[in-house]
Amino acid sequence: MMLDRLGRPLRNLRLSVTDRCNLRCEYCMPEDDYVWLPREDVLHFEETSALVDVFLSLGVDKVRLTGGEPLLRRDVPSLVRLISSKPGLKDLALTTNGVLLADQVDALKAAGLRRVTVSLDTLRRDRFLALTRVDQLAAVHTGIAAAHRVYGRFKIDTVVIRGVNDEEVADLIEYGKSVDAEVRFIEYMDVGGASRWSPERVFSRREILDLLSRRYGSIESIAEPESSAPAERFALPDGTTFGIIASTTEPFCRTCDRSRLTADGMWYLCLYATRGVDLRDPLRRGASMDEIKALIAGAWRDRTDRGAEERLALGDRRAFVPVQDLLRKDPHLEMHTRGG
Ligand code: SAM
Ligand code: SF4
Ligand code: SF4
Repeated sequence: MMLDRLGRPLRNLRLSVTDRCNLRCEYCMPEDDYVWLPREDVLHFEETSALVDVFLSLGVDKVRLTGGEPLLRRDVPSLVRLISSKPGLKDLALTTNGVLLADQVDALKAAGLRRVTVSLDTLRRDRFLALTRVDQLAAVHTGIAAAHRVYGRFKIDTVVIRGVNDEEVADLIEYGKSVDAEVRFIEYMDVGGASRWSPERVFSRREILDLLSRRYGSIESIAEPESSAPAERFALPDGTTFGIIASTTEPFCRTCDRSRLTADGMWYLCLYATRGVDLRDPLRRGASMDEIKALIAGAWRDRTDRGAEERLALGDRRAFVPVQDLLRKDPHLEMHTRGG
């Protein structure tokens, strides 16, 4: 097992397959225009697959496809097919905003995708439009129905922002019950394009639990001592389960086994890392798999990142990348580039 300097294994790989998106969520892509990754830099599926082989040989056993909106990339099922049967892989999942899911879910399943997570922050059409700038809530509902038809129980991820959708937390739990999905509430993070982040807008884990226990009664914590998953899980008195990802107020860097590969082959060891390891260049220069393996292994062994914990320790803080100019100069700093 490959351990970093804090004893954390290299296990979870998030593969961003595109930096493009068909929504413009206020907390992720609030600007009017963006600098995109040059097309010629974006890895071909065969290149991504070759890098995945190296990661698997170093202990990665869980891969999640993300973006941007991963389903905007042409023929994602082909990439799934390339990866899904690799030896050593225990999980292959996809995070999507759901807009294009209904059309693709059968092909994704047939190609070997094991799980999907759909992001959904509101059940109100006007609010969805205000939050994402696109009137596509109906398409997301259709995507969710398709996800359930094909996968049965699945997960819905919701970013909770004070004054935006915090009053919908219980409604989303009820919605989750109705579509057989476990809802996970994510605290608003100050990463990448979240240039409108402020501490006051974070609706915390504590507040979510207080709100839900006022509505439903006592909430039980579900102990999962072996899990390195960021979500803490809870059960309502009627047995309904849900999760909270308290990335902002109670970060979990201590057990973080996640790293991220962007669509253009930059590897980031932390969501907050300002610099990544360029894997595209050696790959395209014809470096051997052993050389790339040594590069990845060396970087992971030196890893000391604890981005969210360090941000928390700052106390009073503002958006991580406050200046749009900076994001423009390096689109890799964006959440939609490195994958949430
Ligand atoms: N477009 C896909 C989607 O929305 O599911 C996949 C990529 S998106 C970057 C992955 C996840 O990151 C989404 O669940 C999104 O809500 C979350 N995310 C983006 N910006 C965030 C922020 N500032 N704080 C917390 N979560 C964020
Ligand atoms: Fe929203 Fe995901 Fe697109 Fe970001 S990448 S704007 S979170 S749909
Ligand atoms: Fe992992 Fe960095 Fe997120 Fe902490 S901030 S949990 S180290 S990715």
